[in-house]
Amino acid sequence: MQKLNTPSFDDFWWDTNSPEERNKAALEQAIQTALFAKEKVPFYREHYKKLSPQDIQNISSLEEFAVVIPYITKEHLANVDSGAFIPEIEVEEIDPNIGEYWVFPTGGTTGDPIEVYHSMQDWRGMVLTADRHIEFDFFRDKNIKELFGVKDEYTNPLKDARILGVYNRAHITNNIYATMLLRFGSEFLWRPHLTPTPEDVYGAAQKHRVNGLLATPEEGTGKKAIDLENILRVDAKNSKPDAWHLSYRYNPEFKFIFWSSMPMSEDLLRYLKEDLQIPYIKGHFGSTEVAPTAASCSEHMRDFHLIYGHSLVLIKSMENTGLAKPDEFGYTLVSRTGATDKEGNNVLPSGTYFINYMTGDGARLSKDELCKCGRNTPVLYDINRIQFHEGKAIHGCQIN
Ligand SMILES: [Zn+2]
Repeated sequence: MQKLNTPSFDDFWWDTNSPEERNKAALEQAIQTALFAKEKVPFYREHYKKLSPQDIQNISSLEEFAVVIPYITKEHLANVDSGAFIPEIEVEEIDPNIGEYWVFPTGGTTGDPIEVYHSMQDWRGMVLTADRHIEFDFFRDKNIKELFGVKDEYTNPLKDARILGVYNRAHITNNIYATMLLRFGSEFLWRPHLTPTPEDVYGAAQKHRVNGLLATPEEGTGKKAIDLENILRVDAKNSKPDAWHLSYRYNPEFKFIFWSSMPMSEDLLRYLKEDLQIPYIKGHFGSTEVAPTAASCSEHMRDFHLIYGHSLVLIKSMENTGLAKPDEFGYTLVSRTGATDKEGNNVLPSGTYFINYMTGDGARLSKDELCKCGRNTPVLYDINRIQFHEGKAIHGCQIN
């Protein structure tokens, strides 16, 4: 697969280097991805037929990339066979257990769920990028280092931690976190069976004396939802003296809350921070399509820094064809622009190609600004997933 001339996705360069250089690298990657797609990916060959390779090569800014490269929507995906989004190449690394690709269905908001293909290289690129954001916290973030009593050098509090993943076994969130956390030396446990109640999940947490949970924050469909709120509600009722509380305040071994897929409410965040005193609360934002594209920091726990590396996120204006201004509400466009081979080289993706994919989310993006956590990447906020909720209610992709 074609190599990319960019720093490794586990390099903090992406979080701290000058925004100009980062944007330049992100643009180069995006251009190479689009050129390759035009040549090798059947859908884009057709979709880009009015563009010459020179037109693509001449793009000189991310703004221009959003204008020149036609976006795609869920309708494009739903109306074309999913194979048309995969390059016509031989896959170099084949997963011995599963086959060539991991395949995950999306929730599907406009009809049937679509199938998304991730190669081993795509998967590794996503995991390195998302893990980098966690490593940064324990290396560089003063707030988190203080909470964990880390002085100068790096320690990895996730080593030997047991984390229970509460998402559906088939859902990409559980799968990608399993890989991410295994890299840190954590033990990753899966939900007890296919259709557990919050009490069942709580029972598993007691039995295995877990140090953390990965769960959706609040699903909003009543007391049976397998979400963080309901699981913690069971814990709050448990007054047995031998209870393994899911609370740092009453059990200093319980330190980690991971969540994904949607914003967390202020009330729940306050409860986790102030009542339960959980020292590490980490949210990732993403989708089945491009997986994590942004992650929370200790300053912006309800919002998300973009995690450049395997992906590019742009916010398109609602008024014109260009990008939204910083802090202006617009449509989210995501692209998968990188993967990592087993030698550690950055390469182009080899699974499903998403380029300027309009996910149906609306959001605002701050300007590049140095955050108290030490990153200078923009922050994605005010995310509006209304168009997704309907699909999730029908297909139940997240939780049940
Ligand atoms: Zn930050």
